Amino acid sequence: MLGGKGANLAEMTNLGLPVPPGFTITTEACRAFLEAGREPAGLRAEVDAHLADLEREMGRTLGQPDDPLLVSVRSGAAFSMPGMMDTVLNIGLSDASVAGLAAQAGDERFAWDSYRRLIQMFGKTVLHVDGELFEERLEAAKRAKGAASDLDLDTADLRTLVAVYKDLVAKEAGEDFPQDPRVQLDLAVRAVFSSWHGDRARLYRRQERIPDDLGTAVNIVAMVFGNLGPDSGTGVAFTRDPATGKQGVYGDYLANAQGEDVVAGIRNTVPLAELERLDKASYDHLLRIMATLEAHYRDLCDIEFTIERGTLWMLQTRVGKRTAEAAFRIAAQLVDQGLIGEDEALRRVTGAQLAQLMFPRFADDTGEAAESAAAEAPVRRIAQGIAASPGAAVGRAVFDQETAVRWAERGDRVILVRRETNPDDLAGMVAAEGILTSRGGKTSHAAVVARGMGKTCVCGAEALTVDPVQRRFTAPGGVEVAEGDLISVDGTSGHVYLGEAPVVPSPVVDYFEGHRSAADDEPDGLVGAVHRMMAHADRSRRLLVRANADTAEDAARARRFGAQGIGLLRTEHMFLGERRKYVERLVLADSDDGRAAALESLLPLQRRDFAGILAAMDGLPVTIRLLDPPLHEFLPDLTELSVRVALAEARGDDRAEDRTLLAAVRRLHEQNPMLGLRGVRLGLVIPGLFAMQIRAVAEAAAERLREGGMPHPEIMVPLVGGVQELEIIRDEAQQVFAAVAAETGLDAALLSFPVGTMIELPRAALTAGQIAEAAEFFSFGTNDLTQTTWGFSRDDVEASFFTAYLAAGIFGVSPFETLDRDGVGRLVALAAEEGRAARPGLGLGVCGEHGGDPESVRFFHETGLDYVSCSPFRLPVARLEAGRAAV
Ligand code: PEP
Ligand code: MG
Repeated sequence: MLGGKGANLAEMTNLGLPVPPGFTITTEACRAFLEAGREPAGLRAEVDAHLADLEREMGRTLGQPDDPLLVSVRSGAAFSMPGMMDTVLNIGLSDASVAGLAAQAGDERFAWDSYRRLIQMFGKTVLHVDGELFEERLEAAKRAKGAASDLDLDTADLRTLVAVYKDLVAKEAGEDFPQDPRVQLDLAVRAVFSSWHGDRARLYRRQERIPDDLGTAVNIVAMVFGNLGPDSGTGVAFTRDPATGKQGVYGDYLANAQGEDVVAGIRNTVPLAELERLDKASYDHLLRIMATLEAHYRDLCDIEFTIERGTLWMLQTRVGKRTAEAAFRIAAQLVDQGLIGEDEALRRVTGAQLAQLMFPRFADDTGEAAESAAAEAPVRRIAQGIAASPGAAVGRAVFDQETAVRWAERGDRVILVRRETNPDDLAGMVAAEGILTSRGGKTSHAAVVARGMGKTCVCGAEALTVDPVQRRFTAPGGVEVAEGDLISVDGTSGHVYLGEAPVVPSPVVDYFEGHRSAADDEPDGLVGAVHRMMAHADRSRRLLVRANADTAEDAARARRFGAQGIGLLRTEHMFLGERRKYVERLVLADSDDGRAAALESLLPLQRRDFAGILAAMDGLPVTIRLLDPPLHEFLPDLTELSVRVALAEARGDDRAEDRTLLAAVRRLHEQNPMLGLRGVRLGLVIPGLFAMQIRAVAEAAAERLREGGMPHPEIMVPLVGGVQELEIIRDEAQQVFAAVAAETGLDAALLSFPVGTMIELPRAALTAGQIAEAAEFFSFGTNDLTQTTWGFSRDDVEASFFTAYLAAGIFGVSPFETLDRDGVGRLVALAAEEGRAARPGLGLGVCGEHGGDPESVRFFHETGLDYVSCSPFRLPVARLEAGRAAV
């Protein structure tokens, strides 16, 4: 009800700290005002009463001519909305009281400058006069005087300016600047109420999901002045270093100044420690107050204060913003100091902060990088793209995957630059330090694959013109980058640089990899703090975490990062690059023999891969998803092939096999491959395909069993929409298990593995009760479920209209990144409930990208899933967030 600012002022007052007297009008009054369009009955009388108290306490009345009480009128909602709403200072000054202020302050210039500021702020925020018009007149006054800054205007100049401002207000607002201080106050309060519905404030709330009907409180506080001479001043302070969390004296001070002067940067501030020399009494007092605040809030606080002629006043405090590193260190320190418990410490760090700490970064974007690099070759920012996969990568620009692989093999670091990537580029993406594309959004192929690999990626840098044939790209301003030139890409900010920007590796990743332990860390250091928060999260969480991994190496890393199994092994990822032709042969086979031969050649490859992964995950579940590619990913491009055939025909050397291929590609071509022949449909249409994969799994498991391993594969069927689809595949699977058991002589019970399904179509969610009759587990494929629930193409929307949607505040974050609770989330909750009702003990997990998203993990915890599965690199974030959701 008091808003953030008002509540903290009240807390400080109750703690006996020196807060200038004042009162707060609650958000309830604002809501009543906004509803009725006028002040609620009773507000006037209440303001009268509180103002009278304030005047009694201060020993003077608002705007009293010989010694005016002046007040500030500030907004302050329950959620911080920085700079979104209005503030008016110096209320109470008028033609009558300006001389009184001058006499009391012993400073005429100060009084007229204060009056000038009041008319300007009041004119702009209350009477809606264009602020530029005031600025123009101020500039004109300075020009006339030959003055460089506001400070060069003397009392006479300011008097003249006040007259000019008053004329401006009368002309523009159609009414005079009010001389009655109480009218000033009432109008300012009303303006603050109304600013809740300002355009900026509305847009900000829509994006941040702050409810529109909360309203703002209004804080009316006696003015104190830091600009009354050398024994006055103003400053900001932190109770700890917001960058590292170290306790100490941090902040800035500016003598003989007001808050606005600090912001405007007219004069340079001095470090807060200097205050000890300037005014020891106030300094000591401030340190005592800082200790009181830390003990009270049990957290880092930031503070705004003013010293008026040797008297210290607290103007504001709040729990302060901090860097990700400081968040972890402070949480651990506060536990050691006995101020908070471990649960509270865990609540105070976030998965987003941990994610930030896990990426290498460029030494400061602006300062350090520019300076240190200047010594060698200059580093220059040349483009801005979409920050698709965070991290910092430096390397030589290459334009095709073969070169990427070749150069990487000889030890060069490379950045793969493409217009957009496709599955053929995979080997190049693996070999590259980072990926840069000129097209596509956050769910483009490049982005998804890069995030999966934990590889830096900037995509959709549209200002770049990529020419893969000439092996170069151009950037605005005539910049040309040829193959071999060094570039740097920042996947956290989306910046692209020409040259080599210095990179700092992440100590936190070294820790998760096991290369560094908390014991090696300095006392109170970052790694020790992360270690402690992770340990508590692991102790507390109910959700298990699994990894999305397709190779034995990924599986091994996932284990180091805490995976309790694999939740999604995408088998189509085993057929990229070189092996694509095997699938192409299978899909295009037009006889049973041709198909059987193609399947025959795939079986050993699959078996070998599965055996490796089951070994890496020995003892833990491995969910193997049967083939689910949109078909076009495995076929030659229709346009390219058509051109090739047409050219060959024109030359007279057309080849029959190319024409046959073209006919087949035409036959299989789909307008909407994502809604086409993929997932379980492919398994039902191509006889033997899924049986071959299931056989490879069973044979690999048999091999592991004979070697004394503990394989726990699970077969997962993708894109099921109706239970009938699943039943066919389940029966097929059971036959294969039995056959392999008979062939190997192993106990059939040992070779019978769970068969489950993905829930990634709305119909599957809506018929979950039926599907659960045939499924031993569900895994929510929230990528496709988001795509099909919203009707958004996951490959296209981010590049086409998401920017406009974000700007319009339709959502603050892409639903492909953070689960849409209201829509997609309801389907998940419904399917979980009806699935479990039909089959108690049904396993429930999620393996879409949302499995590693902090906000979404919380939702999956609340919905009662058993596990989340995400890319190996995001596992620590999922563990931390699962722990936070549980405390
Ligand atoms: C999904 O749709 O959420 C999923 C995990 O499958 P894929 O991303 O491979 O379609
Ligand atoms: Mg899917």
